[in-house]
Amino acid sequence: MRLSNMTWPQVETYFKSNDMVLISIGSIECHGRHMPLGTDTLIPDHLLEKIEQKSDVLIAPTIPYGACQSLSDYPGTIDIDCDILYQFCNQIFQSLYKHGARKFVFLNGHGGNIKTIERLALDYEKKGCLVAMLNWWLMAWDLNPAWKGGHGGGEETAAILGIDPSLVDKSEIGGELKFYHLSDNLKATGFRSVEFKGVSVEIPRSVTHITDSGWIGPDHPNTATEEWGREMLQASADYIVEFMEEFKKVKLG
Ligand SMILES: [Zn+2]
Repeated sequence: MRLSNMTWPQVETYFKSNDMVLISIGSIECHGRHMPLGTDTLIPDHLLEKIEQKSDVLIAPTIPYGACQSLSDYPGTIDIDCDILYQFCNQIFQSLYKHGARKFVFLNGHGGNIKTIERLALDYEKKGCLVAMLNWWLMAWDLNPAWKGGHGGGEETAAILGIDPSLVDKSEIGGELKFYHLSDNLKATGFRSVEFKGVSVEIPRSVTHITDSGWIGPDHPNTATEEWGREMLQASADYIVEFMEEFKKVKLG
């Protein structure tokens, strides 16, 4: 049930007996040389299509942009400042709250949005609401540890292959990931992490200064398959439907 497709009397009726809204957020950002910029939005949108078939929860339009500061140097990436993103999401939440929403299910495709969603969740808890942040790629690790993956790696590549294989440029999936280390003994190991003497230290930098392609492991995109993607997307959508049914039972104080 899509908010965009409903009339206001239908929405008024919905909120007379329901207080839950499902909304997605993603990003437009570099996901390595082989993946579409909309990866973090395409995946939640695909999950919504599956969820919609099995759930009666009202679905608000997806927010396609997110906070992508560390990836903003790659062509095509659109970075929304965290403060602006918070204000924008807050305006959407305020309107939904005014109309009767009290339980917000925020389906998130992008790690850079987590801090903003946490801030919203704590703010709306003070108004008597609950915000569930569903980071699909982290939840998938719990559903099946074999699905665990990093930015632009096997997990996300599998998801996009499961949606539409033509969106992955397989000719751009190269060899091993090459990190730009800070020194012989300060080895880059991830988005922010640098290892020194077996201990991880965080030194945030533009990803263009950490790796050339913009995918960051640990999993390699060449492990991805369409079957993995399809199975993972269906399992994730089914889980979210079940989660929302349980979430409906929670009594708000
Ligand atoms: Zn992503």
